[in-house]
Amino acid sequence: MKKILIGTHNQGKFKEISYLISKKLKKLSPTKLRILSPKETGKTFISNAELKANYFSKYIDYPVISDDSGLCIHSLNNQPGIYSARLARKRGGFHFAMKYILKKMKNKKNRSASFVCSLSFKYPKKKPITVTGKIHGKISYEILGKKGFGYDPIFIPKNERKTFGQISKYKKINMDHRFIAFKKLKKKIKIL
Ligand code: IMP
Repeated sequence: MKKILIGTHNQGKFKEISYLISKKLKKLSPTKLRILSPKETGKTFISNAELKANYFSKYIDYPVISDDSGLCIHSLNNQPGIYSARLARKRGGFHFAMKYILKKMKNKKNRSASFVCSLSFKYPKKKPITVTGKIHGKISYEILGKKGFGYDPIFIPKNERKTFGQISKYKKINMDHRFIAFKKLKKKIKIL
């Protein structure tokens, strides 16, 4: 069976990306292979996704797929953006990071936001191929729902009334920023 490394230690992302990739590929994780994460020194989702693909590729002789993603809140200058995971670490976890965001949004009329995902695929010794997917929506007034991961409980996707934390797992996986990016990537990489 052909292999692919899903270059993330984030279990939520790992599950979503695994679900999208063909059943014909054996999915491996850097956690199981004991490969640490690289430093995210890029300034954009694209550069961080490519940096991760290039880094993980050095350890293996089969393809890798990695993502960089985050929540961009328009009235907060698109923050936390590429710093989404780092904000959660700084605040002591996602619950506190979401509370912090809701407090910052208290007097904001414009609650529009997007989840963004850059997905990068790399064959050994080849340059990465990268695409970006976005889903628009808004920030809720409260933390709602226990499903999903990360900032899911404060993001209400466009045309929905519930947060990603309240929406069923399969519905979310089949509509979110990672799914939109994956659809674009699948057009370019047939084995996926
Ligand atoms: P990074 O790509 O490893 O820098 O981490 C991205 C961070 O963005 C994650 O740790 C989550 O906090 C957040 N994030 C990305 N995608 C999602 C999602 O689908 N739901 C909730 N949070 C997400």
